[in-house]
Amino acid sequence: MSDQPHVVILLARCRVNRQPFGVRYEEKTLGRWQASWAFAIPEDRAKREGYDRTVLEGSFDYEKDYPGCPHCFARRLVKCSCGHIFCYDGKGGRLTCPWCGASGEITGVASRIDVDSDR
Ligand SMILES: [Zn+2]
Ligand SMILES: [Zn+2]
Repeated sequence: MSDQPHVVILLARCRVNRQPFGVRYEEKTLGRWQASWAFAIPEDRAKREGYDRTVLEGSFDYEKDYPGCPHCFARRLVKCSCGHIFCYDGKGGRLTCPWCGASGEITGVASRIDVDSDR
């Protein structure tokens, strides 16, 4: 038993320079995740830590002091249909996924973040 929040790290990638970064999510209440921190991390290290294999379900939000992407400072994250997340500056329009190269419009709110390096 512990009062510590449930914390996980997800691996994301910057849309601008395609560099990886980790996003720290805290589960505030059951199924309600808030991004609280983001930090640059080499991809091989993130893989060693298993950050690329994290699955989260629920709703996703940001803490008000979430610092944004460590590379380009974009404050939001979006999830591609390939299952990976990347930073987003909130400006809309077409986005190109830095993981799989697919482009598309933002549709709806992700209810599940499923990060898996095998796809
Ligand atoms: Zn970025
Ligand atoms: Zn993708």
